[in-house]
Amino acid sequence: MRRSLPGLLLAACLLAGCGTGQTAAPSGTPSGTRSPSAPATSPTKTSPAPTSAAPPAPSAPSTTTAPATPSHEPAPGTTPPAWLGKRVLPRTADGFGEVRPTPAVMRVRRWNTPDTVAPLPGTGFTARVVSPAPADVIARSTWRPGCPVGKQDLAWVRMAYRGFDGARHSGEMLVNASVADDVVGVFRRLYRARFPIESMGITTKADQDAPPTGDGNVTGAFACRPVRGSTTFSQHAYGLAIDLDPFQNPYHRGDLVLPELASSYLDRGWVRPGMITPDGPAVRAFAAIGWGWGGTWSSLKDFQHFSQNGR
Ligand SMILES: [Zn+2]
Repeated sequence: MRRSLPGLLLAACLLAGCGTGQTAAPSGTPSGTRSPSAPATSPTKTSPAPTSAAPPAPSAPSTTTAPATPSHEPAPGTTPPAWLGKRVLPRTADGFGEVRPTPAVMRVRRWNTPDTVAPLPGTGFTARVVSPAPADVIARSTWRPGCPVGKQDLAWVRMAYRGFDGARHSGEMLVNASVADDVVGVFRRLYRARFPIESMGITTKADQDAPPTGDGNVTGAFACRPVRGSTTFSQHAYGLAIDLDPFQNPYHRGDLVLPELASSYLDRGWVRPGMITPDGPAVRAFAAIGWGWGGTWSSLKDFQHFSQNGR
């Protein structure tokens, strides 16, 4: 029953997580790539903002709390800082950017960004499907010969969506033509559920080649690229996967977080606007067309990711 003092200290450390603040980073990673859960919580706790002392509490800052909230919780649908997308992160050996703590201004991210297409006519939800996608749309995408889907098998989908200001916006996507109507149905449900989306667009070659800034947040589907950290094609390369609000719903494997500045959103218990929850409208809408969610994976988590085959 009796334990030695070192044993007690070890047990206390295990319980309290004493090691997390120390320099025991595995495999010589730079100091900025600490365990992602550390930057997710520590800045919030030291925040001077009065209502931020208990971060998990404000699960309802979604719509009308703007006037009473401090500057750390900007009003819905505000303008992002001018440096968004411009601060390049150093690359790590894996080719991604260095994972860094989420800037305070991004911990409750509710921004408006310009629509990627001209406003669709009408009010409420609407969509336009052009299949196959026009040549000029394909030309500004990441499609090239060798991609696992033919360009004639991709559809150009424009859709209305709700921004973080609650207003109607218009965006575009490239998806596999075989699922275009299903995808429209999903986004119709998300619109009616008032699920907010920051931006909806088509990944370009320039996007893929750009140096990492760790703060992107574009909802999209087709991207001709391999699975992260692999050489096999992603389901995105078939137009059979969709990433939804990537910043609010990061990819997480070991020390890697994508987008690299989104660690705050690994705290899934602190539910903020745009986050996909297991029983929320996004998971339900995709489940209705038979698509699986990367938030249920065990070896890694890809909270933004939905796909037809569940991979
Ligand atoms: Zn994805």
